[in-house]
Amino acid sequence: MKNNKITSLFEIEYPLIQAGMIWTSGWKLASAVSNAGGLGIIGAGSMYPEVLKEHLQKCKKATHKPFGVNVPLLYPDIEEIMKIIVEEEVKIVFTSAGNPKTWTKFLQEKGIKVAHVVSSVKFALKSEEAGVDAIVAEGFEAGGHNGREETTTMTLIPMIKQKTTLPIIAAGGIATGRGMLAAMVLGADAVQIGTRFVMTPEASCHQNFKNTIKEIPDDGTLSTLKEVVPTRLIKNKFFEEVMTHYANNGKREELIELIGRARPKKGMFEGDIEEGELQIGQIGGLIDEIKPAKEVVEEIITDFEKAKQEMANFSF
Ligand code: NDP
Ligand code: NDP
Repeated sequence: MKNNKITSLFEIEYPLIQAGMIWTSGWKLASAVSNAGGLGIIGAGSMYPEVLKEHLQKCKKATHKPFGVNVPLLYPDIEEIMKIIVEEEVKIVFTSAGNPKTWTKFLQEKGIKVAHVVSSVKFALKSEEAGVDAIVAEGFEAGGHNGREETTTMTLIPMIKQKTTLPIIAAGGIATGRGMLAAMVLGADAVQIGTRFVMTPEASCHQNFKNTIKEIPDDGTLSTLKEVVPTRLIKNKFFEEVMTHYANNGKREELIELIGRARPKKGMFEGDIEEGELQIGQIGGLIDEIKPAKEVVEEIITDFEKAKQEMANFSF
């Protein structure tokens, strides 16, 4: 894996990044992935500034390897979050859900590497203009918030590759070494994986949420809530209530009222699998086993090498 743009940028062993996920990727998961040779990421979106500070300090104690922080730019206390990131000497920041121009220079001046998450060629070009070090190109298969354009990973990666020279981290729908190889064949330098890492004991989300993912079929999720933020959710009771709202031609304000506050926390952190929002990627339908993050990393890399060998012998 020498000469890989992403492993040299972040000084990691494998071009394998664990996605920053609200209520799920705290210091335990991030440090376990980093210790296994990938890049672990703390999801700051669900953390009050003091909670993030604590997670950063614990992460630095748990690993001497590089790790990063994901900051959704629409976060309310963003200045405070960025101040803590600088004070705690974080080296890598993944920004998402906002304009990459706002914070990239500020962070880079402090010696921090910046990657920005995009769902379209237009946002990739905007990120290039903002001077980011890399982009995460995330397709519509991904869990949680996704792009309004509904572009899949299969189509997004080659189109971004055609238009930019930035290092590309492919995301959305990747959970195995085979998926990782496919993304690289399309033009990615690395992959970012979320859903597979939710199904680890180190992930801080609730056990009920993990047990639900074990059971979901291929069509167990759908992207909805488009009038607010398009979000891929498991089809539970809350999801059905949203469908009823649409069937009744409900107004946007009524949808906002129906969602209320802290639904993702209720579902993913407190384990209310009926009333909460359960955000997971489409590839959740493939995963029915919970195993330590270190084993997940090892399995993906072994599977990647095996698939690469198989393709070398592929003929027709
Ligand atoms: P726990 O101490 O039981 O934490 C459970 C796991 O989640 C731990 O691994 C913890 O890390 C991690 N974690 C904590 N907060 C977050 C976060 N925001 N995002 C991702 N991972 C996280 O949970 P607590 O009950 O102490 O609650 C933690 C946060 O949630 C606090 O901000 C608290 O105010 C809020 N909260 C939680 C409720 C709940 O039902 N658990 C209810 C109301 C509020 P670590 O080991 O470092 O603690
Ligand atoms: P809501 O407005 O419904 O609720 C806010 C939630 O965020 C509460 O659970 C609250 O915890 C927690 N929180 C953490 N820090 C703060 C803060 N400084 N001020 C207020 N609340 C805070 O929002 P959501 O739960 O839908 O989203 C929360 C965040 O997660 C947003 O930043 C959003 O962008 C991000 N997000 C990112 C996704 C992605 O795919 N990248 C997917 C979904 C959300 P408490 O209940 O303990 O007060």
